[in-house]
Amino acid sequence: MPQSPANPPRLKVEHLTRAFGGTPVVDDVSLDVAAGQVACLLGPSGCGKSTTLRMIAGVERPDRGRIAFDGQPVSDERLFQPPEARSVGLMFQDFALFPHLTVAQNVAFGLRSGRDERDRRVAELLERVNLVGYGTKHPHQLSGGEQQRVALARALAPRPRVMLMDEPFSGLDNRLRDGIRDTTLEILKEEGAAVLLVTHEPDEALRMADEILLMRAGRIVQRGSPYNIYNAPADRAAAAFFSDIN
Ligand code: ADP
Ligand code: MG
Repeated sequence: MPQSPANPPRLKVEHLTRAFGGTPVVDDVSLDVAAGQVACLLGPSGCGKSTTLRMIAGVERPDRGRIAFDGQPVSDERLFQPPEARSVGLMFQDFALFPHLTVAQNVAFGLRSGRDERDRRVAELLERVNLVGYGTKHPHQLSGGEQQRVALARALAPRPRVMLMDEPFSGLDNRLRDGIRDTTLEILKEEGAAVLLVTHEPDEALRMADEILLMRAGRIVQRGSPYNIYNAPADRAAAAFFSDIN
């Protein structure tokens, strides 16, 4: 869909900037992601990916810049909404499940609806992530891949407008990872949030992204479809970054 003032993107970030101790870590980053799209912020360790995501989540304050969801500002010169007011889903590498809660309680955690609707949504998500019958188990009884699916279900349960994922597959066994990436992508597409996924692995971005945002030293140095970025890297460093995949 074309973007216009009447039809703003789900997530819009403009000139986001943040320094630590005088060193710029995120430097004038702008991006937008439409509902139903997956954008991958791809770059080497330390380039500022997590800090960008944390500012969009509302757990880190920008020095400058604007963030809006569906055209409504959540962070700008005057406004800084806390994470719980932003309708974001969060998923991290370590899944961060609550160990003392059951699978169903983990998935229900962010739901504020009445009991019937909550139970319906939990059942729907457990089915979607292929964990029917796991509701009463505890996280330590599950494999890594199963825990990842619980974390995905929990993040999606409140139907967040924006889903933020920080290296969500890097803790997983290599042999399982591609399959889990594919099923995760399917579920994200069904749920329809705007997804911003952070990774340092080119093959992950190529496999999952509608758009890749290549980041280096705090700046976005190239953006485009996986096909375009892979076949026409902007410079030598971008080409080198992709050169060890085959
Ligand atoms: P990435 O996720 O791409 O690996 P980060 O956003 O985590 O990068 O970090 C970018 C840089 O900012 C790193 O050099 C990191 O040490 C620094 N940094 C991140 N958070 C803080 C902080 N709270 N205080 C000081 N430096 C930080
Ligand atoms: Mg990081």
